[in-house]
Amino acid sequence: MERIFGRPIVTQEQMRTRIKDLGRQIASDYANKDLILVGILKGAFAFYADLARAIRIPLRVDFLVVSSYGSRAKTSGKVKMVTDLTENIAGRDVLLVEDIVDSGLTAQHLTKTLSKRKPKSIKVCALLNKPDRRQVTVHVDYVGFEIPDKYVIGYGLDYQQKYRNLPYLAVLDQVDEEGEAT
Ligand code: 5GP
Repeated sequence: MERIFGRPIVTQEQMRTRIKDLGRQIASDYANKDLILVGILKGAFAFYADLARAIRIPLRVDFLVVSSYGSRAKTSGKVKMVTDLTENIAGRDVLLVEDIVDSGLTAQHLTKTLSKRKPKSIKVCALLNKPDRRQVTVHVDYVGFEIPDKYVIGYGLDYQQKYRNLPYLAVLDQVDEEGEAT
């Protein structure tokens, strides 16, 4: 599968080093706070597991499963929460953990929705950031890597629900605006 799909752009070693740094920074920023790390599934699962273990302070874990409607190019802007949190976030410091901020719609929607539950603070951490594709203004507080406008797979990110288990991040060159291989 590794030969057919993708040109590596972030190696496992680069990933490890960057996530360690992010973990250290987050641990220092959230020392003495009531941190709840909210993973956005499915895409964030690999990043989340590594990041959580790199943050060496006590924290809570929780997850949201979301799905977005529409194609990659013509997203409807509707983000559906398929599975909600199990923890109460009121008065807690929420850090949303995303695989990638692309249009920004998911981060915007979740930040708005979860803010209504009165957390003490809410911030966003994304492994990847694609600023060229932004449709709405969102502040991403922690970013692993800024990447160009290319379709990427691996390390949690899929191509038609597969390749999430690729241990590095690769660019899928031949993919059109709908996210379909050409
Ligand atoms: P948004 O456009 O709302 O910022 O991102 C929505 C979701 O689209 C991301 O969480 C991610 O699952 C998916 N996505 C965006 N860009 C890519 C990409 O390059 N590759 C893959 N596999 N998924 C992407």
